Amino acid sequence: MDILLTGIKPTGKLTLGNYLGVMKRLKTYQEQYDCYFFIADLHALTLPIEPEVLKNNTLDVLSLFIASGINPKKSTLFLQSQVSEHAELNTILMNYLYMGELSRMTQFKSITEKMKNEAIGLGIFTYPVLMSADIVLYNASFVPVGEDQTQHVELARDLVHRFNKKYGDILTLPRTLVNTSSKRIMSLSDPSKKMSKSDPKGDIFLLDDEKTITKKVMSAVTDMVGKIQYDPTNQPGISNLINIYASLKSISIEEVENMFKDANYGTFKKEVAKAINDELTPLKEKYAKIRNSDELNSILALGAKKASERARPILNKVKKAVGLIVNE
Ligand code: AMP
Repeated sequence: MDILLTGIKPTGKLTLGNYLGVMKRLKTYQEQYDCYFFIADLHALTLPIEPEVLKNNTLDVLSLFIASGINPKKSTLFLQSQVSEHAELNTILMNYLYMGELSRMTQFKSITEKMKNEAIGLGIFTYPVLMSADIVLYNASFVPVGEDQTQHVELARDLVHRFNKKYGDILTLPRTLVNTSSKRIMSLSDPSKKMSKSDPKGDIFLLDDEKTITKKVMSAVTDMVGKIQYDPTNQPGISNLINIYASLKSISIEEVENMFKDANYGTFKKEVAKAINDELTPLKEKYAKIRNSDELNSILALGAKKASERARPILNKVKKAVGLIVNE
């Protein structure tokens, strides 16, 4: 069975972008692939974060994974920091990606642009190395991500080509799986920007209550055209809402346009808010039960054990290939 892997950073409250971009699909992947889902807590340290916030976010993301239908017995669900092979492989792979390549990553450029007057840790620069290590450590063939992460997976592919050319067929070449319909969910207040935890204006958080969600959708930025049609250039706000509705209902953009061809923006927005709440209310109920249960620690212990058992032989293969001595 092919290996599929994806991770989410516990840097803030998860958004509808995370959910529609990636999370919603994971349950079905579980039936088709050998799945590795992890919480990228080491990646969360690349931008300043308070320890208590990180801890709480980590348990929130873990609970949301389970609430969204991930079965920790069927899939391997774990914390990146609890599988030390990630950090070990990162140290080795650092030498196979180049400074020029890393400085061209759009995520690095936009974060450094935003933080230009602040001290910036090295981790944000080397982020794609650790992400490459995360992927190749399990010989993952498929990596479901939102469109914002595809450049990093491309870099991981370059690394695999480079490494295998030098040492033989050691690493598996990963491929992205991008959800074509909801590859990029945009901010409700500025639909030219993606909905992002690090820029929370215009976000819908998965744990927002129903009233807040409805209020946010009703005040989403639209336009003066007055027609519900998919035209991201001239009607980016309405197009984003169409996309959200289509993803939630698993229908096409055209179907949404047809359904609402005679509706006004107010009516359409009400239906979008209802669709979001219909999806998120049951998710929040499951989340609350799991988040307050004692099971989380044992789920993490099981996940770390399973992940490490898979990762260690692959790491050893890499170590041997580059000339490090492994005691087995
Ligand atoms: P992150 O929150 O950066 O760890 O991202 C977790 C996953 O959610 C990654 O696969 C991202 O590509 C995806 N993602 C984050 N924001 C969005 C968005 N606005 N639209 C679609 N996918 C997203």
